[in-house]
Amino acid sequence: MIKHLLSADDLDRDTAIGILDIAERMAATAGREIKKLPTLRGRTVVNLFYEDSTRTRISFEAAAKRLSADVITFSAKGSSVSKGESLKDTALTLQAMGADAVAIRHPAAGAPHRLAGWISGSVLNAGDGTHEHPTQALLDAYTMRSRLGHVEGLRVAIVGDVLHSRVARSNLSLLTTLGAEVILVGPPTLLPVGFEKALPPGASISYDLDAVLPKCDVVMMLRVQRERMIDSYFPSEREYSRRYGLDRRRMALLPEHAIVMHPGPMNRGIEISSQVADSARSTVVEQVANGVSVRMAVLYLLLGGNA
Ligand code: ASP
Repeated sequence: MIKHLLSADDLDRDTAIGILDIAERMAATAGREIKKLPTLRGRTVVNLFYEDSTRTRISFEAAAKRLSADVITFSAKGSSVSKGESLKDTALTLQAMGADAVAIRHPAAGAPHRLAGWISGSVLNAGDGTHEHPTQALLDAYTMRSRLGHVEGLRVAIVGDVLHSRVARSNLSLLTTLGAEVILVGPPTLLPVGFEKALPPGASISYDLDAVLPKCDVVMMLRVQRERMIDSYFPSEREYSRRYGLDRRRMALLPEHAIVMHPGPMNRGIEISSQVADSARSTVVEQVANGVSVRMAVLYLLLGGNA
């Protein structure tokens, strides 16, 4: 049993599949008139968000509430963090309040790992800088399994701003653990230097999106993360979009059964066109719905449930 979920590397194949199976059972409760389960009654879950978020914050909150936990949502804006309070002092406050689990999003890679050393409850990494976002990878794997029936043996292209993407890093780890093949595609400037030497078995790099698309089961488009760019990584948005954006013409290169994913928020017209984002192949909205079930499963497991 695992206590924290800090990285997708914390998950071996059996644990990951166990989470996806529990998430499936959790999803079945979403169709009921009364969606609440009593599982975490009397437990306290804190959402600690130092970075903006729409989907992940709401999703963790919905997941904890559906399991009947008491939920405290803390965003750095409007708290004593803006008065300079350190993460450690905030952690001590959470500890004093008896938090059983803390979902933390932070701009610094490694912040969740530090937090796990300071509090006695479970820590869930809800995104740390450019490092990891393990529950996103779990919900993406869940979405692939529910649309295509399995994850093992799938060929998945992860396309675009890999350099700044915690979604790409967590997916690379989890998908290869689950036996999928991953191709990272993007301009050389947006792929980490020397990455090819550090890739797990089953992963590779390509700079040519048109060549990769016809052999993919899944194409996962990444947001161009302007807010993390300290340099000019491509000549213009138009040029980026021409080489690496997914539009209708490119989508036609995919095999019939292939799906298109995006973690959101989307830059429509840059990495993905509206026609593609709103097409039947797109799983964007499903990914959000699946996020709640997957986070319910993770909370359940970390707070003492059995797979
Ligand atoms: N929402 C995802 C994240 O927080 C992806 C993104 O921001 O582009 O990492």
